[in-house]
Amino acid sequence: MTEALLFPKIRIVLVETSHPGNVGAAARAMKNMGLTRLYLVNPSEFPSPQSTFRAVSAADVLEGAEVCSSLEDAISECELVIGTSARERKIPWPMIDPVICANKALQMSDIGSETAIVFGREDRGLKNEELQNCHYHVNIPTGDAYSSLNLAMAVQVICYEIVNQSGRELSKENWDQPLASAEDLSHFFRHLEETLVQVGFHDPDNPRQLIARLRRLFLRIQPDQMEMNILRGFLTAINQIAVKQGDQAVSDQRVE
Ligand code: SAH
Repeated sequence: MTEALLFPKIRIVLVETSHPGNVGAAARAMKNMGLTRLYLVNPSEFPSPQSTFRAVSAADVLEGAEVCSSLEDAISECELVIGTSARERKIPWPMIDPVICANKALQMSDIGSETAIVFGREDRGLKNEELQNCHYHVNIPTGDAYSSLNLAMAVQVICYEIVNQSGRELSKENWDQPLASAEDLSHFFRHLEETLVQVGFHDPDNPRQLIARLRRLFLRIQPDQMEMNILRGFLTAINQIAVKQGDQAVSDQRVE
């Protein structure tokens, strides 16, 4: 492409798309609105003549698409992750509309941070575990009778709102630290879960919704990298005390 990229810091992620025609139509919807960065997580067939046919003059978006083997890979360096959702889920998550979604992504771009907007499978949407990687869920308002849009049409609406909102003045957010990326958060969540198990607070055999609720809490705060490091250090201190106490208990048993 010769033109300057309009939205180089916003990527569209399609998860396990089953119809290659939808991938092509999504690429076209993106290019029409000035977006070019397409990520495909385990597409059923790619590249495909059907995708190219439906992309029409957006074949370059398809050619530049990154194919990933997991959602984690597709979002790892993003500081903001927004998942699309056609319906309410078991645990309500911070829900935004396409206008707010566009403004959040544009604000991130403004401070040099990257946003992923994640779209689900045609038949089942995104899984709960996938949605629990997201800071926000965005829902496109619809009529009551049928709330599930065609995948490429959903991409169209979200991308339209990005270009539409980009003409407006953004309130500049000032922050002294870079925000944590999806990868930083995923390491933190793993450490947190291991620590909760270690101290006996979390029983992996009876998980209930504890981890989902903690994910929602920390994602809602949108921690920065410094805050993440502080929390990781705090967890490590707890890990060390737990190990020492475990050793003490073993040696107490020996004395008895
Ligand atoms: N039957 C699925 C919906 C799949 S539609 C379900 O119940 O979850 C395919 C994808 O299009 C969704 O995963 C989402 O990314 C997008 N989509 C469709 N309708 C949407 C809506 N109203 N709001 C936001 N995204 C929507």
